Amino acid sequence: MQELKDRVRPVTDKDKGLPTFSYSKIEVFKNCPLQYKFKYMDKKYSQDTSIALELGSLCHYVLETKGKMIASGQAVDYDKLNNILQNGVTETDEKTKEELLGVVQLRRKYFEVWHEADNASGASYEEKIKLFDKVLHEEMEDTTWQPTYFEKPFEFIWDNKVILKGFIDRIDVKDGQYRTVDYKTSKKIYDQSKLATSLQFGIYALAILNEFGELPIESQYRFILIDDEQYALTKGWEKRLIKALDKVFGDIEASENKNLFIPKPTPLCHWCNFCTTNPEATIYKNECEYYSKWTPTQKTFEVNKKWNALENNNTEKKRKLVF
Ligand code: SF4
Repeated sequence: MQELKDRVRPVTDKDKGLPTFSYSKIEVFKNCPLQYKFKYMDKKYSQDTSIALELGSLCHYVLETKGKMIASGQAVDYDKLNNILQNGVTETDEKTKEELLGVVQLRRKYFEVWHEADNASGASYEEKIKLFDKVLHEEMEDTTWQPTYFEKPFEFIWDNKVILKGFIDRIDVKDGQYRTVDYKTSKKIYDQSKLATSLQFGIYALAILNEFGELPIESQYRFILIDDEQYALTKGWEKRLIKALDKVFGDIEASENKNLFIPKPTPLCHWCNFCTTNPEATIYKNECEYYSKWTPTQKTFEVNKKWNALENNNTEKKRKLVF
């Protein structure tokens, strides 16, 4: 733990101007540096939304509301929770600052796909909502862990180089020990290989260390639409996390210095806001030429245009250092 403690500290006024990262910003770079450039360097933010995003935000909010009822010692009001789930809310938490549509409206808005089974869990959204109702009744009923913080904001300095910030869905406390929980609305659980040194939970662990002086003893992914769970950060994760963060920040620094952001086309392009094949992309949907032609109905390794390193090295102009 000492090695981590030496690299983590609170943000002070003197740190203004350091580059700021969230876990998702790092993940976007790892998945596709070109997408990172469009989104975070060129600031091509789109308001694109999707059934997965809207339903995910709604379910997070309902669980957060239940957690707050438990934490404040109230009896859980399932009628109220069910009303939020079905009808949504017009005022939400600090993070989203948006109104949330309920299941009734989402079913209407996304009627073409609402009853379709997905290709991983085999369940439709209608079926997933029934499973979520079961999860809602069971979650946080284990009285050994006390749900204590919800959508907890954090920020800290990593290695005197960058500000890491974000929100943790839930932090539970038991006898002065901590557990971080992240709600997932994915259609399947993760490969074991993604869990051992989860960057997301590694960053959350550093946030807990910065704020409470301890590392969490459990890091739980809770898959709330398929009623499953997984635990991340296996033995020796601390050293592996340091290595992983050093590598990714080194790679980002190198890309930004050369202004060279190489596309990584994969089936994930189909969900990228800069991709022509993404049916939910809007204003920036034709931004990327290098996209994979993979779609759920046409599984191919073909790309629209191959990346040419020489051509791009010559045309990119040098940028000033950011680290
Ligand atoms: S479409 Fe694919 S290659 Fe292009 S920016 Fe998006 S993820 Fe990267």
